[in-house]
Amino acid sequence: MSLCTATIATLRQRLLAKEISPSEIVQDLAKNIEAQNETLGAYLSWDLDAALKAADEVDLSAPLGGIPIAFKDNINVKGQPCTCASRLFEGGYTAPYNATVTHKLTAAGAIPFGRANMDEFAMGSSTENSALRRTLNPQAPRHIPGGSSGGSASAVSSHMAIAALGSDTGGSIRQPASHCGIVGLKPSYGRVSRYGLVAFASSLDQIGPMTKTVEDAALLLESLAGTDGRDSTCLDAEVPSYTKALHKGVKGLKIGLPTEYFGEGLDPRVKELVMNAAKKLEKEGAELVEISLPNSQHAVATYYIIAPAEASSNLSRFDGVRYGNRAEEPRDMLDLYSRSRAEGFGSEVKRRIILGTYVLSSGYYDAYYTRAQKVRTLIQQDFTQAFEQVDAILSPVSPTPPRKLEEAKEDPLKDYLADIYTISANLSGICAMSVPCGTLNEEGDDLPIGLQIMAPHLGEETLFQIGSTWEKIRG
Ligand code: GLN
Repeated sequence: MSLCTATIATLRQRLLAKEISPSEIVQDLAKNIEAQNETLGAYLSWDLDAALKAADEVDLSAPLGGIPIAFKDNINVKGQPCTCASRLFEGGYTAPYNATVTHKLTAAGAIPFGRANMDEFAMGSSTENSALRRTLNPQAPRHIPGGSSGGSASAVSSHMAIAALGSDTGGSIRQPASHCGIVGLKPSYGRVSRYGLVAFASSLDQIGPMTKTVEDAALLLESLAGTDGRDSTCLDAEVPSYTKALHKGVKGLKIGLPTEYFGEGLDPRVKELVMNAAKKLEKEGAELVEISLPNSQHAVATYYIIAPAEASSNLSRFDGVRYGNRAEEPRDMLDLYSRSRAEGFGSEVKRRIILGTYVLSSGYYDAYYTRAQKVRTLIQQDFTQAFEQVDAILSPVSPTPPRKLEEAKEDPLKDYLADIYTISANLSGICAMSVPCGTLNEEGDDLPIGLQIMAPHLGEETLFQIGSTWEKIRG
């Protein structure tokens, strides 16, 4: 059996039994990358020599000993590029330090291998905003892989990675996972350190696992989670054994179905798949409860004020002086700033910066930014109230199957609306997971559809309980 198609759990067993070695896994992945990446474009780069060197030195007794992990290209791994899929870094930026997740994973024995493509600075939901290359959906190559962590999803889905890390600001782990038929988990805000993740919107960003199975997501999160003195928003809360939660079943769990998530705009075929999953979970002993999240309709507008506002501030550090591309022969300092940024950023990034500075400008600040923060609180309160009634919430990830490539070219705002079901988890800080739920056949392609499970802040164990039960009964 080819090693690259296996899960973390299986490979760990085989490594511990000395049937295989870490370098064999790396070699097998490299062969697959050579064969497929030119077409699929999941990776921007990979460093085989560094991975093989790490494979030789790995401690097999560590929890992830010998497992190669792909990294989204906005997470720093010392000595490797970190382009954020932007022209700004094309000149050859090399990360001078490790992100905390890189440090934690390598301490757990994992081997960083491969830099995954993404929407530039994680802005988008198709990976079409990458300034560097196009990524295809391995399950249906005429369709988008989703985004912004589309490279990570495509790599895992095509077995060019055993598992990968993504980042999720408004759905960027869950939506590409859903579109490519894999598992993706956005941890609760503060569960995983953001130190060394290139910031998009700091009050929303979280790093999380993208894997073939729910069990693999639990294995990764056990190593990723935990406090970090370098990120003051990272919580000092105990990290439970997530793998233990996998076997708890769903008996007695109350699962909420929010009316607002099953109404207008939802493809009826997606609705049917999600409802079917809910009914099967009911048969396993869960109780289904209809709930309401009344402010859901405001989530997209709220997010597209807060996220660009934070992005415009975070991206001001890219001035042509400290990182990346610097305009040639500038007339003066302002010319250096403006030309370096004009040349370096793509159109979606510029759109967000303009939007962000506008909503933060004096005169408009209260009308847009302050009001959006108030609505954010209302959305948070919706979830607090819902979780007084239920243990978890079930919904679609995306209202439609993955769309065709280039279909949103004329109207970039079209994709914003499709974030409707994922954004609220970021605005409210709760955790959420996307698990494959079935496929829809369109013009001969089987398009993957994901199921979203949401749980209260730091309630990841419930996600694993429901996710692994669903995986078992899905058939
Ligand atoms: N699609 C959303 C956006 O474009 C979410 C991106 C993300 O989660 N990084 O902002």
